[in-house]
Amino acid sequence: MKHLHSGKVRDLYQTDDGLLLMVASDRISAFDHVLTPDIPDKGTILTQMSLWWFEQLADVVPNHVAGPGPDGRSVLCRPLRMVPVECVARGYLTGSGLIDYRRDGEVSGVRLAPGLVDGSRLPEPVFTPSTKAAVGEHDEPISFERVVSEVGADVAEELRRITLAVYRRGAEIALERGIILADTKIELGWDADGVLTLGDEVLTPDSSRFWPLDRWEPGRQQPSFDKQYVRDWLTSPASGWDRASGEAPPPLPDDVVERTRDRYVEAYEKLTGQSFTG
Ligand code: ATP
Ligand code: MG
Repeated sequence: MKHLHSGKVRDLYQTDDGLLLMVASDRISAFDHVLTPDIPDKGTILTQMSLWWFEQLADVVPNHVAGPGPDGRSVLCRPLRMVPVECVARGYLTGSGLIDYRRDGEVSGVRLAPGLVDGSRLPEPVFTPSTKAAVGEHDEPISFERVVSEVGADVAEELRRITLAVYRRGAEIALERGIILADTKIELGWDADGVLTLGDEVLTPDSSRFWPLDRWEPGRQQPSFDKQYVRDWLTSPASGWDRASGEAPPPLPDDVVERTRDRYVEAYEKLTGQSFTG
């Protein structure tokens, strides 16, 4: 197999018969740093979660899955020609969307009502596309008009329609299980027949913000379903880490690793209704 690419947490290979093997590692990132040590089973949990979501979304959009990989953390997929836009849908305001809203009253060119705060639910989910940034750079929000100029009006409309449909389906299922899907990023590409197809991973905590519903409280930063222990520890005096220093964070203590693993298992089990057996 030929190694094609390594991201922060995943590795991509090409198989001899022209398929792609996507392997999710146990690496975890926070505050733009890949942390040590790994979170045991994280890659398997996220791959299994993504496969489950692809099935839940099969009537919304076709996907790139070609079959299981050699182990639970890998998946075989059909190669796609990726659309050069990150397709983001937001149902709640936070993160970079909140920063843009505070500055301009709009997100990716979509005007929003005044008075919204961190964690506010939006009256309607909005499509807020961004550029696909090169390694080490941040994605930049772009307007719908900019997407039209990159891919044409018909494709742009399709990207918006599919992204919002994926978000709505995901948010509805998650909410029934006590989890808010605040926002999500999907990646689409054209398959060999020119059909827009869902690629990458979908609706995992690495591509989406999941919040525990019972702790949702607009007006502050919401706790993250999966990474809260990690963030709390890194920003506590106990870690001794200064985020502004630009230095690599110190290794996570065992109990933070263990509790974080438990959160991934819990997210998987809550969402899918299946127990995680490893
Ligand atoms: P980051 O760690 O910030 O996500 P990254 O996007 O470079 O960085 P990965 O997400 O691991 O790292 O990379 C996966 C790459 O594979 C992405 O460029 C994605 O667009 C691409 N990809 C996903 N599915 C397919 C597919 N079916 N065909 C071709 N490329 C794909
Ligand atoms: Mg990626």
